[in-house]
Amino acid sequence: MLRIYNTLTKEVEEFEPSEPGLVKAYFCGPTPYDHLHLGHARAFVSFDFVRRYLLLKGFNVLYVQNITDIDDKIIRRAGELGVDWRDVAGMYTDEYLSLLRELRIEVDLHPRVTEHIEDIVRFVEALVEKGHAYVAPSGSVYFDITTYGDYGRLSGRVGAEEWRQEEEFLAEKRNPFDFALWKAAKPGEPYWPSPWGPGRPGWHIECSVMSSKYLGDTIDIHGGGQDLIFPHHENERAQSESYFGKSPWVRYWVHVGPLTVAGEKMSKSLGNIIRLTDAVKTWSPEVLRLWIFSSHYRRPLDYKEEALEQARTTLRKILSTHEMLLRVFKERPVEHRLDERRLRVWVSLSQTWREFVEALDSDINTPRALAALHRLLGIANAEVLTSDSSSLAFKALATLELMDRVLGVLPPREEVVRASDQVEELVKLIVEVRARLRARRMYEESDWIRAELGKLGIRLADTKEGTLWFVEKRTGSSEK
Ligand SMILES: [Zn+2]
Repeated sequence: MLRIYNTLTKEVEEFEPSEPGLVKAYFCGPTPYDHLHLGHARAFVSFDFVRRYLLLKGFNVLYVQNITDIDDKIIRRAGELGVDWRDVAGMYTDEYLSLLRELRIEVDLHPRVTEHIEDIVRFVEALVEKGHAYVAPSGSVYFDITTYGDYGRLSGRVGAEEWRQEEEFLAEKRNPFDFALWKAAKPGEPYWPSPWGPGRPGWHIECSVMSSKYLGDTIDIHGGGQDLIFPHHENERAQSESYFGKSPWVRYWVHVGPLTVAGEKMSKSLGNIIRLTDAVKTWSPEVLRLWIFSSHYRRPLDYKEEALEQARTTLRKILSTHEMLLRVFKERPVEHRLDERRLRVWVSLSQTWREFVEALDSDINTPRALAALHRLLGIANAEVLTSDSSSLAFKALATLELMDRVLGVLPPREEVVRASDQVEELVKLIVEVRARLRARRMYEESDWIRAELGKLGIRLADTKEGTLWFVEKRTGSSEK
């Protein structure tokens, strides 16, 4: 049974979706006004682990991640660049979508705000009709926070004085902490028609509208970065529960911790922002996934090159073990009995899978799951590849691939096997030549062959069975 931390109750709870077998999940996506940074990857990849684990547990998952393609920041950025706001949103949306693909993050639907303006207007109209919102003199519409009794519970902020204020609007708001559902257009700004005059949606309303349009009036998991708890998610919750007249609108609020650089928050003023395209180029998407997996999603993740180097080393080990297991499994004859010792190895392999599942069941504890994966690699290298057992090779291979359904770093089997048949024959030939040299005790020559192959990324491992080899995958350049 999966247990997951709920920000609303501040407790780790048993996970049970509202409809058996189906998980409706919504995660707040980006505002495409600038390049994505490493913090975005941390949030999206962390949630990708959750989504993949739910799938592995047999749930159907309907996963929606929005794109805020109209916003103050986009308008400001377009002004700075002297281009149309649509071009800014389009350019950075393209970058975001291609980075998601590279990072192997799958999303069912990416609704964009500008394609849901009518839905948003209708939602705001209903909030006005129900008395939860009011039209200010400017033509902007605000949510009246005093009509929703539970405001502040999600973020734990209970005092009105703590709630952020938009001072320029103070004159027209009933309460300083009311927030905009609809913003009247200022001269030169993009706008859409509405019953309250030309304007555009406020930031928070889109998530309430687009999530309910596709997921209905109850969301099982609503996620985002911890920085979104207030005011964004607090406001989403107020709007939606007022609109639907029911609680809870979201069954589990799941928030991902921040990414820091040398212990500091990434910010323009500190000049320590790491662009995601650069990080992908330097480390590769798989190294980044593994590094993010090594830390629990709720804790801050600090960017340290040593930690990424370590992830790279682990990735190499995963890829080489996978390739050797696959090769061995393909080449060894089917086994018809296991002796006592092999049975023990088989049991210890299956134990690593249990540990992996138990770790993820306890609030998606990926560092503990990674430890189980390391144990699997250890057993595979020490006890499986060195034996001639095809059953053990199969067990280790299947377990590694199951774990990878969550981790997401292995290439498809066909790609590993394909690795060019000609190259395979050629390497076999060289390995055979080296074996003959060794048989004649010509170790200097055989070591030279091994070293030269190593330079080409082809690693050899001498076992009782003969020599195994694998081609090392590219895992990002070491140069900075
Ligand atoms: Zn949102």
